[in-house]
Amino acid sequence: MLSTDLRSQWMSKLLERFTVFVPAERENQVHWHRLEPADLGSGTDTVTPALRRIRASEPVKSFMFNPRQQVGAFPEKLKPAEPKTRVLLGVKNCDLVPLKVHDKILTDGEFNDPFYLAQRKNTILVAADCPVPEESCFCNLLGLTPFAGDDADAALSVCDGAFLLEVGERGRELIDAAPDLFRKASEGDAGVTRREEERKAAVAALNRINPTPWNPGLPAAVAAKRKDESFWQKHAEKCVECFGCLMGCPTCYCFLLYDQAREKGLDRTRVWDACYLAAYARVGGGANPRAEFVKRFANRFFCKFSDFKTDHGMFACSGCGRCFKACMGKIDIRKVLGEL
Ligand code: SF4
Ligand code: SF4
Ligand code: SF4
Repeated sequence: MLSTDLRSQWMSKLLERFTVFVPAERENQVHWHRLEPADLGSGTDTVTPALRRIRASEPVKSFMFNPRQQVGAFPEKLKPAEPKTRVLLGVKNCDLVPLKVHDKILTDGEFNDPFYLAQRKNTILVAADCPVPEESCFCNLLGLTPFAGDDADAALSVCDGAFLLEVGERGRELIDAAPDLFRKASEGDAGVTRREEERKAAVAALNRINPTPWNPGLPAAVAAKRKDESFWQKHAEKCVECFGCLMGCPTCYCFLLYDQAREKGLDRTRVWDACYLAAYARVGGGANPRAEFVKRFANRFFCKFSDFKTDHGMFACSGCGRCFKACMGKIDIRKVLGEL
C-alpha cells in the first residue's frame, strides 16, 4: 500500500529502471502517454495518470502487436530488438483478456511470432480497477469483471488516498524499485475495505447498463445466421466502411505480410489487416468469397462470437465498447447480438 502523496516518488523510481506508460486524460479522452521525469513535478504533476477512468482509446495490443513491424530481411537475418523493460501502468481487464487471443494466435502453435513474443516478455502489465464503467462498457455480458484476475503481473486499485498494489512474481520488481515507500496492507485497512465496496459497485453499475444477458447458446445462434443475409443487411445499412470497429479492437489479430525490395535484398513487414477490407479474402486469380460488403460485415460476428469460441474456447471480444464508440453509424454490437 502506498499513500497517493508518494505517487510521484514511486513513479520517479520506476523511471530509473523502466520505460513507463500511463493512461492520461486529453480533451476528455484517455490516451496512453509515455511518462517522462518532467511530468512528475513536486506535488503538481503535469501529467496525472487517469487510473480510475475506463480503458484508453488505443488498445494495449498495439504495444506488442505493432500496427507496422518489420519481421524479416534477406539475405541477412533479422532478430527482435531487446529494448528496456516497459511498464504499462493502468491496463484494464478488457485489454488484458484480449492478449490471450493474441497469445493463442501468435505464440501457441507450430509457428511463433518472435517479434510479438519479445515485446510481450519485455512488458510488465499493471492492471487498474475500473470503478466507474461507462455506457459503452459491456464486459459483464462476456462474463468478465471490471477488475483483473490473474492475467496481470500486478494489480493496482486507487481509492481513498491510497494505491493498493497486489503483485505477482514479476510485479515484485515494482515494489523493489522503492521498497521504503510501501507498507503491507491488511484486511482491516480502510483502503482495502473501500476497494471491495468499489468493485461491487462497479459490477452493479455494469449490470444496470447491460441488464439482459446474451443467449447462452450465442456461438450456435450466430453460426445459424450464416446464410441469413437479410439479418446482417438490416444491421449493415448504417455502416460507412470506416473500419474503426476493427482497427481499435483489442482482440482483432489479422495481419498481412508484404515484401519490399532494397538494392541488395528485401525487407518483410507485418501490418494489421481487417476483414472489412474488400481485398481481405481475395485469392489468386481474383476470386473473392466476400466481395459484397454484407458478407464482410457478418464475418466479424462469425469470427468473434462463433468461430473463435468453437476453436479456442473464448470469445474474441472483451466488451470494451471501442467499436461502438468509434462507429460513425452508431452500430452497437450489443443490440445485434441481443436479437439472437
Ligand atoms: S473480426 Fe475480422 S479483422 Fe478481426 S480478427 Fe476476426 S477476421 Fe480478423
Ligand atoms: S468487438 Fe468491440 S467491444 Fe468487443 S473487444 Fe472488439 S472493440 Fe471491444
Ligand atoms: S465502425 Fe461502424 S461504420 Fe465503421 S466499419 Fe465498423 S460498423 Fe461500419
